[in-house]
Amino acid sequence: MNSLKSVALNISIPFFISLIFAFIAYYGAKIPEIIFDLVPYLFYAISALILWVSWHFNRNRFIFIIIPLLLISLGFEYLSAKKATALFLYASLLYPLHLLIFLSLRERGLFSIWGILKIVFFLLEIGVVAYFVAYPDDNLTALLKSKLFAASFYPLQDISVAAGIFVLFIMSVLLLFNRYLIYNGSFFIITVTFYAGFYFIKTAHAYELSMLSIGIIIFILLIRESYRLAFYDELTSLPGRRALVEDMAKLGMKYSLAMIDIDHFKKFNDTYGHDTGDEVLKMVASRLANVGGGGKAYRYGGEEFVLLFPSKDVDESYTHTDILRDTIAKSPFTIRNKKSSKTIYINISSGIVQKSSKDRDPFAVMKRADNALYKAKKAGRNQVIKEV
Ligand code: GH3
Ligand code: MG
Ligand code: MG
Repeated sequence: MNSLKSVALNISIPFFISLIFAFIAYYGAKIPEIIFDLVPYLFYAISALILWVSWHFNRNRFIFIIIPLLLISLGFEYLSAKKATALFLYASLLYPLHLLIFLSLRERGLFSIWGILKIVFFLLEIGVVAYFVAYPDDNLTALLKSKLFAASFYPLQDISVAAGIFVLFIMSVLLLFNRYLIYNGSFFIITVTFYAGFYFIKTAHAYELSMLSIGIIIFILLIRESYRLAFYDELTSLPGRRALVEDMAKLGMKYSLAMIDIDHFKKFNDTYGHDTGDEVLKMVASRLANVGGGGKAYRYGGEEFVLLFPSKDVDESYTHTDILRDTIAKSPFTIRNKKSSKTIYINISSGIVQKSSKDRDPFAVMKRADNALYKAKKAGRNQVIKEV
């Protein structure tokens, strides 16, 4: 389960963007009209930017998310009142479900089999909605307008509200349990903002402002995603070597650093296979991520990790690292294959040092920690050696 702190942190950025636009809509009467005239064009501009960036960086999900919004906006602007009403009904029901589907599908190349299936599904969706908007079916419309709740959410139909509750419920579960927090947090707020825009469709500019805030949320999500790609390791979700070097440059004169390496990992890989090896790396990484003493864990590369203890001396850092070594050594790891299951134990070795005035740069500190690690390996492994 994700910590509530990180959930809150991830949801707060899109939330504040939406909130700012909600205030603008609320105090609309006090704002010169000319500013609102620009809002739809700003939305089109940011959509074009999103399409270009997501295409360029192979984040295709956002292409499928932004195109329907563009079509809905164009539809509201140019369709007759009756057709626009039909579009409102279908979009309010289907778009949140569409968001959920494209949040859950994995990111793949647009021209792989999966990518092409996605495109076909997407075109079918658009085609079906376009057909029913062009040729409204009275029976279907009546069915979609059925009463489900005692309260009225007009202009939203009850069925759209029910779909919204369902989608937001699943997204909340993802927020709590799925590790892609930046996506889940943003998609949750995008869904809420979408409904707010539709619910207040009769309030001047509210809908246009909601579209613009969704555009900005997606654009910021793209920026945060590229940051994550650059600084975080995909397998373990720990920050990687680049993040370590940046963080070390920011540290003061006093800090300690532990270099960690899994014992006999090559043999482990050879015996149980690379995939099981990856599972072990994830297990070790999740333990390291919870190190005490204000330490922060990084994946240095392969089966090597670093713990950084800002403003801690070597003794205190040693205590926390050794507790961690002991916890990992005592954690059973179960290997299952088709026929049997087997429990094994993983050990780590570590070398730990404190920054001294002789270390000219972070790499000198790392080098000394690496020497200490080498000593721990030579002394028989499954131990932490500190060098003062
Ligand atoms: P020692 O106790 O001396 O550290 O022995 P070792 O076998 O762990 O040492 P070595 O550094 O030679 O082996 C590291 C192995 O880690 C080599 C490689 O097969 C494996 N490895 C590195 N990165 C990954 C990874 O991402 N996934 C998996 N499954 N294995 C990896
Ligand atoms: Mg190694
Ligand atoms: Mg090793």
